[in-house]
Amino acid sequence: MLIARMADEVETYSAFLVDLDSPGCTVTDGQTPMSGQHIEADIVFDRCHVTREQLLGSVGDGLRIGLGRVTTNRLLHCPTVLGHARRALELTVEFARTRQVFGGPLGALQSIQHKLADMATAYYAARSMVHDALAALDAGARPRTEAFMCKLFVAENAFRIADEAVQIHGKAGLTRGAEVEWLFRRLRMFRILTGSSEIQRNGIAKALLATEPGTTPATRERT
Ligand SMILES: Cc1cc2nc3c(=O)[nH]c(=O)nc-3n(C[C@H](O)[C@H](O)[C@H](O)COP(=O)(O)OP(=O)(O)OC[C@H]3O[C@@H](n4cnc5c(N)ncnc54)[C@H](O)[C@@H]3O)c2cc1C
Repeated sequence: MLIARMADEVETYSAFLVDLDSPGCTVTDGQTPMSGQHIEADIVFDRCHVTREQLLGSVGDGLRIGLGRVTTNRLLHCPTVLGHARRALELTVEFARTRQVFGGPLGALQSIQHKLADMATAYYAARSMVHDALAALDAGARPRTEAFMCKLFVAENAFRIADEAVQIHGKAGLTRGAEVEWLFRRLRMFRILTGSSEIQRNGIAKALLATEPGTTPATRERT
């Protein structure tokens, strides 16, 4: 789906369906992000002729169509992030159980226990708010502000969980090829991907300031 301006419509954007094998359209390798996965590509249009028949929706509908699913998409990234965070937590609990230091398991140290407790609590809070927002979405609501909050909270806390996971693993967490090291790099990306944390905060603040106190969906008391 291509969002572009019609030649004679400079003010608005429209959406078009363009086959990737159309003459003048090529897909080139993107850059490799820090997770090492090859997950992006550039689509290059060079004299690619797009006709009115390829228009999706009406002229000027482009941004509405392109951004129409942004709330849902934002929420749908959260379970991915949560799954990575849960894996980091599980690996860390197992490591704390089995790694021997000073004649006993690492997990016998209260400072390590407290880190594990904070990681699990952050995970539980993050998962709970995502379930809440997704239930609202399922019920037909449009939890726009909640989606901003979920993406922000989940991404930030998953990264903290990953950081503590690496810390508790010590050298084993810093080693290339270790699962927890990869989870750390992967989770670092989600504070930027699909809208950075700063952009989520902008959205939340805008909603708070635009509504009367107590009327913002995410802060309104449930009845
Ligand atoms: C591998 C990869 C995969 C991606 N996948 C997706 C995807 O699936 N879906 C998707 O939507 N996007 C995706 N993106 C794009 C990603 O969402 C953008 O990189 C991100 O939105 C940041 O945009 P930018 O890189 O242009 O940074 P910039 O806009 O240049 O921002 C740079 C910094 O300034 C901050 N900043 C910018 N504007 C403001 C502002 N108004 N207020 C406060 N701070 C601000 C940003 O938060 C950031 O910290 C992907 C990117 C990569 C690298």
